[in-house]
This record gives sequence, structure tokens and C-alpha cells, in this order.
Amino acid sequence: MGKLEVNVSMYPVGELGDCFLLKFSQDDAHCSVLIDSGSFSNSKASIARLRVIAEDIKQKQTLVGKVNPIDVVVGTHQHNDHLSNFVHSKDIFKEIGMKNVWLSWLDEPGNEHADNIAKGERKLVNKLEEINAKISKITNLKKGQTAQRINEILGFYGLDKQPKQNPVIPQYALNNLKEIAEAISYLTPGKVLSLPSFPEDAVKIYVLGPPTDNDMLFDINPGKGESYDEKLKTAINGTDAFLSALTNFSDCPCDEESYFPFNERYKMDPTEHAGAIGSYNLKGQEWRKIDDDWLEQAERLALYLDTYTNNSSLVLAFEMVQAEKVLLFVGDAQTGNWLSWKKVDFGAGNTSVSNLLARTVLYKVGHHCSHNATLPECLEKMTHPELVAMIPVDITDSHISRKNGWKMPSANLYKRIKELANGRILRMDGNYQSDCPIEGGHADTNWGAMLSHVNMEKIAGLNNEIVTYKIY
Ligand SMILES: [Zn+2]
Repeated sequence: MGKLEVNVSMYPVGELGDCFLLKFSQDDAHCSVLIDSGSFSNSKASIARLRVIAEDIKQKQTLVGKVNPIDVVVGTHQHNDHLSNFVHSKDIFKEIGMKNVWLSWLDEPGNEHADNIAKGERKLVNKLEEINAKISKITNLKKGQTAQRINEILGFYGLDKQPKQNPVIPQYALNNLKEIAEAISYLTPGKVLSLPSFPEDAVKIYVLGPPTDNDMLFDINPGKGESYDEKLKTAINGTDAFLSALTNFSDCPCDEESYFPFNERYKMDPTEHAGAIGSYNLKGQEWRKIDDDWLEQAERLALYLDTYTNNSSLVLAFEMVQAEKVLLFVGDAQTGNWLSWKKVDFGAGNTSVSNLLARTVLYKVGHHCSHNATLPECLEKMTHPELVAMIPVDITDSHISRKNGWKMPSANLYKRIKELANGRILRMDGNYQSDCPIEGGHADTNWGAMLSHVNMEKIAGLNNEIVTYKIY
């Protein structure tokens, strides 16, 4: 029997986003796995790039003039930057076809637990949309970063500018996947699958997340004993109070009373406190002012929503059994998801999560290498000498490049990944560090040996090359 090999292609979506095509082969057996396809914005330029990518996937699925359906399409979580292409290139994906679609248990219709969570989440998204619409109407307010950040977080949900537009793009994407797929599976942690079209036990696929435990799913810092229901309820109540304050603020701007989002008893007569008010309004002391700080409440709620959706990521580990090598794809999983892996049991005859981490030779870095989407205690277990990290990050994305932009990649995490991977980092934006160049690599680093595994492919319509890494 010939050697099993897999080619992992990272598509350069040109902004925040994930699109990975895995091509497994051994003798006559072939299997293609597409993990996510999307980018953050739904601009004309983004859509054009995504369509080029879909056409390239179609070409890579074509053998002797025949287009072969993708064997497995994985949708990790309901964020625009992971699923939008299944909307923008639906026609192309329909031509290609999909034999299997794998989604998380949270996407399963009729799953009561999942339905309740989805309902609560939807409500929160709608409230935030309302808040967003109201904030954008207020002209006499320093909206600044708060409004911008809420807008950005809502952007992950692919929301239209008009509030209450249902369903949003990631939901359309799921509908399209369900429509195109010949078969759908909703996966729960602990499940072990084998790779379609391959002998059983050639490649085992382990499901690590998303957790079914609400505490893990809904908390960035689990272990405080707070349940999901309480948390989401508090969040929604928070948006209600916030909305009523905003309604006062924006609907009658000439009435001084309405500028006051607090209870009447906290109000003081300015003439009695002229001294305090004088120093409050001192020139050069504007940074002390708190007039608009209440708006930050909305930002916190938006961040909460964002964390939850990232934690809902489907996490898969592909084990090449004979080679004893593992490919780890975590979507955008945040702390709660990673922590929950400790409790996952794959049953008799299967390995443990620690063992999978120790044998990981390819880590698809979570959430575009942001600081809270790779749990240190798990990363430290990735000690395989061949470890390579693939990072879907593009620092030309204006959300990252602007002043006070998103910290992606986060400096300390990036540094540690680089140390563990011996500098072998493959980035979507082609910005390799000077000490780990992709071409003419330093002979004294592991890059030299790695270069024969890397293929860079430039195609028209994409700013960067498609990076393919071969493992066998
Ligand atoms: Zn993402």
C-alpha cells in the first residue's frame, strides 16, 4: 500500500476569513474536505475574490473533464468570515456538489437544547441591531469607537444595514449547505468518524468541540457556576435598558430631560455644584469626562455575543493513523471550547486529547491568531518536532491595520507559536517573518527541510498566493 498524504491549501481571502481545502490521497483513494469558506465583509471586492476561490476549488475537484463533488464540507460556526462564500458562490458550489456536510450539534434542527440557544442568540442580535440603528441616528454624541466596534461585531453576522433582516448571511449559508449536501451530520464532542472513501482506520476524525455544557459554551472564564440562561437573560435585559435610554436620547434631542439615561434621584442641581461642574469642564481635562461611557455597555454585550459564537466552533482533529500525525482545525474556538476538551472521552480503543495535541503536526490557528483563541495549556502540549502553524490572517484588513485595530496576530501568542513551530508559520497574507522566509530559507532552520512540502500558487484575482502544505 502506498503512503497516505494530505495537501492542505489555505486560500487568501484578502481580509479576515477562513477557507481551507484538504486533499487526502493514498493509492486510488481520494477524499476532499473543505473547511469553511468566507470572508468578513460582503463588499463587491470580497465577493469577487470569493468567487475566484470557488472556481479554483471547482477546478481542483475536476478530473479528466469531470467535476467531482467535495466529499466533506465543514461549516465550523455561524460567522460571516467562515460561511459567506456558500451564499456568494452558491451557484458554483451547486455545480461542484457536496457529498457530506458536517456541522456542529448546535446547528441541528429540532435539537431542543440547540434551538433554545439559537433563539436567545437571535434575540440578542436583533436587540444589538436596534441599538446600532439608534446610535447611528444620534448626531450630537461622541459615538467614536463604541459605535464602530458594535458595527464590526454585527458584521460577523453578515447583517444588512436595515435592522431585523432575517435570516442573516451565515444562516442563508447553512440553508444552502443543507440544500446542496447529499447527507448532513451534526457532530457532538466524543464522536470519532473515519474519512469517506478510505479504509476504516486510515484517517480518524475526532470531534473535540463545541461543548454541550452551557457553562463552557457561554463563558470566556468558566468555572464560576453561572448558567447559560442567567447569563443570556442578563445580557438581553441589559440591551432592553440600554435601548430605552437610547430611545429617550435620540427621539427628542431638544428636551434636556431625555439626555439623562439615569434615574431621576441621581440628578443634581448644577447651580448648587458650580465648582465641581467648573472643574469637570476644565480645558485639557476632557479625558476625565464620562458623558458617553454608558454607550460602552452595548459594546460589552456585543463582545459577549461574539465570544459565544466563536465558542460554538466545531473542532476537528484528523489523525493519519499509520504516520501518527494529527491536523488540528479549531475554527475560532475560544477559551470555554478549549477547556471543555478535557472532559471529552472518545471511548475504548481511541486516543486522548492530550495525545492528539502531542502528535499535532499542523495547527490551524484559532480566530485568526487573536489572544484568547488558543489556550496556553493546550498549545504547550503541541510539542511535535514537525509542527507547522497555518494562520488565516491578513494584516492589510482595515480592521487590523487601522489605529487601535484588532490585535491579529496577537504579539505574544504569535511569538510562542513561532517558537514551538521552529519558525514554520504559513500565513494567508504572505507576510512571513524575516527569520522564516518561504523562499531561499535559512539552511540552519527547519525551513530548509520544509520547503519541499510547500507549494505557492498565484492565480488571477487574488492578492496573495494559495499556500499548500503537504504532509505524509
Ligand atoms: Zn473568524
